[in-house]
Amino acid sequence: MASDSKHLDTLLQHTGIAGFDPATGAAPVGLPPVRTSTVRFQSLAALEEAERRKAAGERVVAYGRMGLDTHVALEDVFKHLELGTHCYLAPSGLSAITLAFMSLLSAGDHALVADNVYGPVHSLDQAVLNRMGITLTYFAPNYDDIDALVRPNTRLLYVESPGSLLFEMLDIPALAEKARRHGLVLATDNTWGSGYIYQPLALGAQVSVVAGTKYVGGHSDLMLGAVVTNDEALAQRINKTQYAMGYSISADDAWLALRGVRTLPLRLAQHARNALQVCDFLSTRPEIARLYHPALPSDPGHGLWQRDCTGSNGMMAAALRLAPAQARVFVDSLKLFSIGYSWGGFESLVQLVSPDYLAGHRYWQGDAPALVRLHIGLESPADLIDDLAQALDRASASAAS
Ligand SMILES: *Cc1c(COP(=O)(O)O)cnc(C)c1O
Repeated sequence: MASDSKHLDTLLQHTGIAGFDPATGAAPVGLPPVRTSTVRFQSLAALEEAERRKAAGERVVAYGRMGLDTHVALEDVFKHLELGTHCYLAPSGLSAITLAFMSLLSAGDHALVADNVYGPVHSLDQAVLNRMGITLTYFAPNYDDIDALVRPNTRLLYVESPGSLLFEMLDIPALAEKARRHGLVLATDNTWGSGYIYQPLALGAQVSVVAGTKYVGGHSDLMLGAVVTNDEALAQRINKTQYAMGYSISADDAWLALRGVRTLPLRLAQHARNALQVCDFLSTRPEIARLYHPALPSDPGHGLWQRDCTGSNGMMAAALRLAPAQARVFVDSLKLFSIGYSWGGFESLVQLVSPDYLAGHRYWQGDAPALVRLHIGLESPADLIDDLAQALDRASASAAS
């Protein structure tokens, strides 16, 4: 029952639907998780046909590691979301980033990496890439001139828009134009947009990486990543690298993601509405020095957000006019916000961001003593606002040190 609709809302409901049993003419709605290690064939001829099609580059499976129907359906979902022709799954968002870097770079290559990218990219750099003779230069995408940073061996421009701490929007079409001029691949981390509210491949990027752990799964119960591209030559490199490195995700996780993604449109819209209400409240509070949320008209990225995005989500950051000790009281006083990393589930989260962590990040002006990142969940916004109000009251009344 695959749909040929051009509308994502329809595609997300009609991808990964179970086929009819030819004997009974009946089917469940959702595809069950197809778990397997080995794949069995009816005859040698069937096995050889599968091998032949696989060698020709088709998505055919002769062994369980690459996944069967559940995985194929989830790949189709990511292709719809990201407007890509090829999708490769990975067991976490970070492993999807690793897959992109290992596919796109070779020993001796250089990559330009935005200074706001997901933090563990620095670990990938220091623990692995470095050892393999691959060098990265971190740059501030809204300030630095890429032309001056490109070297003869530069191959990749890797960015994240908006960033996942301060949510600064990048001008992807302009970056794509620069990348094209210098013969670089432009790859983006699109976990914020998750394909539904922002589509970097349509704006000129060639590779889009998504942590499905966040909004695609949407229920804080699985780890998942995907690398999507619409470039045939790059797809072949990613395909071979994914195979060689043994990436595999469980059919149950693929099934959970398929189940979660059906409500992505509804969830994102509600997260976005709730976040704007929280922003409106926080902007009335003297403890708030600045809000970071591109859907907010006061955010410097608002113009780019209006031009390039079709919606928003529950992510925001708030710079606090509170001493570090008071900021800790604020976070510890929250009752509906759990303290924790990650985001994109149904629940509200708070993370106290260490100033050290922001030190290498040029967009951070360092003009407030503390910063919290909030994920605004699907609770009643009135309750979330009451919770934030009482925690701010307690924090301001507490000792500054
Ligand atoms: C969480 C996150 C990742 C990594 O995803 P995991 O599934 O946790 O490995 C990558 N990029 C961004 C922007 C993220 O927020």
